[in-house]
Amino acid sequence: MQYLNDFSHIYVEEDIKNNPFTKEILSKFPKAEIIEIEHYKDKFNPYSQNFRAQKNSQKLILAQKEPPFLYEASDLIQKQDKNFLYTTPMLNCIYDCHYCFLQGMYPSSNVVLFVNLEDFFDEVEKYLKTHNNLFLSISYDTDILAVENIFGIAKKWIEFAKDKPLKIEIRTKAVNVEKLPLNENVILSFSLSPDEVVSKYELKTPNLNQRIKAIKKVIAKGYKPSIAIDPIIKIPNYKKIYKEMIDKIFTEINPKDIESIIFGTFRMNSTQFKTIKKSLVSDLMYYPYKIENKKVLYEDDKEIIEYFKEILSNYKEKLFYV
Ligand code: SF4
Repeated sequence: MQYLNDFSHIYVEEDIKNNPFTKEILSKFPKAEIIEIEHYKDKFNPYSQNFRAQKNSQKLILAQKEPPFLYEASDLIQKQDKNFLYTTPMLNCIYDCHYCFLQGMYPSSNVVLFVNLEDFFDEVEKYLKTHNNLFLSISYDTDILAVENIFGIAKKWIEFAKDKPLKIEIRTKAVNVEKLPLNENVILSFSLSPDEVVSKYELKTPNLNQRIKAIKKVIAKGYKPSIAIDPIIKIPNYKKIYKEMIDKIFTEINPKDIESIIFGTFRMNSTQFKTIKKSLVSDLMYYPYKIENKKVLYEDDKEIIEYFKEILSNYKEKLFYV
């Protein structure tokens, strides 16, 4: 697998070197060079790093998350519940999407995995003592399913969410869903793009057919997944291409089996956009954009949203968009 080569070096915080989960992960990389560090930020935060260069050979950092564990989501994402929060069991991603905000958010593209999952779970339990419910997105600053075969974090969260007033959303482009246990409190949210977008802007990710196949597999298991068409990218002829994709999806999948359809145009915090533009070579950074409330948006973003509302109008009650 591609990512096993990437983790040729693993940095481990001294305080968690004896954590059983740390040991389990290290045992999967017998050839990796293990380097002890005091704190993950010593390795991750220095601004002299080159995000794009590191992306070609990502290293793994095993660390301990400190509070806070739960975060309010920004207005750039579609909130599917009023008690909507997100958490970060991992930072960064093995995929390489040109439009990914993480490129502008972190100085390093190395992957940080927090091994103290129990502390995340304790925080969620605490939150649930004072609130009726929680909708928690756990794959926001990463794609945790992309590395599920080595870390198995999604499975642990799925098991944790059982019998709690808790909905967990796992947003993903990955397709390795075979080992996921069923839990109706979990929404697997598959991000779908036409292959024209996948091949040019979503590097290292599975193609559209593979993702549709994964959706069918989880439906057969008993899941009711969501579909995320987000971000919509204005490739040439995009209206026709996205319409054909939506037709294809619902020829293969019964809309009744889908929980919700989430969509949104390309958008990004303007500071992150500026940072990314300095190092990413991609025509994506050079469309005619406008800046509104510190967000970079397509000039005709509202028209695009209207178009998608129209072509998705058969599924009106399932739509969430920004
Ligand atoms: S899959 Fe998501 S988190 Fe990963 S690179 Fe793409 S946009 Fe970023």
